[in-house]
Amino acid sequence: TGFTDNPVNAAMARVLDDVRREDHPGAVADYIPQLATADPEAFGVASVSVHGHSYGAGDYRVPFTIQSMSKPFVYALALEALGVEAVCARIGVEPSGEAFNGISFDPSGRPENPLINAGAIVSTSLIPGVDGAERFATIRDGLSRFAGRELELDEAVYRSESETGFRNLALAALARSTDALRVPIEDALDPYFRQCSLLVDAHDVAVMGGTLANGGVNPVTGERVVSTAVAQHVLSVMTGCGMYDRSGAWMVSVGIPAKSGVGGGIVAATPGEYGICVFSPPLDEAGNSSRGVAVLQRMSSEFGLHLLSRS
Ligand code: GLN
Repeated sequence: TGFTDNPVNAAMARVLDDVRREDHPGAVADYIPQLATADPEAFGVASVSVHGHSYGAGDYRVPFTIQSMSKPFVYALALEALGVEAVCARIGVEPSGEAFNGISFDPSGRPENPLINAGAIVSTSLIPGVDGAERFATIRDGLSRFAGRELELDEAVYRSESETGFRNLALAALARSTDALRVPIEDALDPYFRQCSLLVDAHDVAVMGGTLANGGVNPVTGERVVSTAVAQHVLSVMTGCGMYDRSGAWMVSVGIPAKSGVGGGIVAATPGEYGICVFSPPLDEAGNSSRGVAVLQRMSSEFGLHLLSRS
């Protein structure tokens, strides 16, 4: 365990250099005012094997907010706490073909999937707790176990988002109207904003992805965080729904279950092998890190990581 100086680090550093030289247009998210202060040149990648070996290149120790990369992990905690049936009664597993903040509910009133905001707010609401504060404490503890260290909140991002998150308020209200959300709106929305504002670096998130790749056991701490069945379920949903309305193109060109966040992170997990996280704040029109997508495309083809390339 620990960082190893070896060909993997060198190969990842070379991928960063190549992608940095190419043109990948993007803009740092500014609909949450505090996110607009991110350094557009920050760029790093980390990976962690299921054996607990860590690799990194570039700014893989620079902190940023986890944002939507929290969604698969909170969904995993909800599945672990309530079971598949209870969770799937409230949140679907179908790709929505819509943007992260889309108004996306199926005919029975369930958000289409847990990886867009509507579904993620419902996932958060399913985490056991008498109110939002208790729910967030459970989420923070669970995400910290995925990461293998105690994660801290970025207060400024949290405040910025909760002061301006009107669309998420509307999505929560819609979910409340269909009965997918069954707790007071604030008791779901406040912990949702907080979970999105947890500070991580690319290495932390690679460990989190590595935990899913490793069947629910954190490859660094050895702790079982969720069951093997839950890890498989979450990776399946990430395969179909992780990259918003680019999930199909992503599967064709990269072929790895993944989830992006507006902070500029993308977490990917190759089952039985690696957790990977790329970090670069400028986003493409779909809200995915432009350089992040390019790095994972290149890593997938150079290192043979596409799940369907194995014959
Ligand atoms: N906190 C952000 C929001 O709800 C997360 C969105 C994202 O990362 N795509 O708007």
